[in-house]
Amino acid sequence: MSYPSESLDISHCAREHHDRLPREWRHDTYKSTIKPDEPVVCPTCRAFFHEGHWQWGDTPSHAHESQCPACHRIADHMPAGFVSISGAFFNVHRDEIEHLIHNVEKQQKAEHPLKRLIKIEAITDGNGILITLTDPHLAHDIGEALHSAYKGEVHYEYQKEEYTTRVSWRRDAL
Ligand SMILES: [Zn+2]
Repeated sequence: MSYPSESLDISHCAREHHDRLPREWRHDTYKSTIKPDEPVVCPTCRAFFHEGHWQWGDTPSHAHESQCPACHRIADHMPAGFVSISGAFFNVHRDEIEHLIHNVEKQQKAEHPLKRLIKIEAITDGNGILITLTDPHLAHDIGEALHSAYKGEVHYEYQKEEYTTRVSWRRDAL
């Protein structure tokens, strides 16, 4: 991990959490759409499912086509992760913060094809953004990266039944 801040203090982060990332999630219903006859390739993003997980790489020529859970969620507008960002600090450092978010996604997606950013949209009052993601753990990762880089206040809300994570991060001090 190469987040902008070199001082990632795990023990401090842990105290800031209201809850920890659940060890065992309810099975993601989107993952149950995978056909068992491996290998399977996603016609949209070309990730392929083999030996129990989705991966990037050269697709075997005999692969069957089936949409991966990430593309399925994007098509259905069904995010599994949400990160809301607000506060005066954001208005001043918007580009830097969005760059950090894209970096976290890029690092995670390279290893885990199902961890993707769906979109970044303005929060209706105009003082922040809402990021939607295909994976609940990616929301957690972005919350940790924001807190590590800029401190501020971060809250995590894990909804295991729905397989979603909602993170809110706020910093008012400039
Ligand atoms: Zn896909």
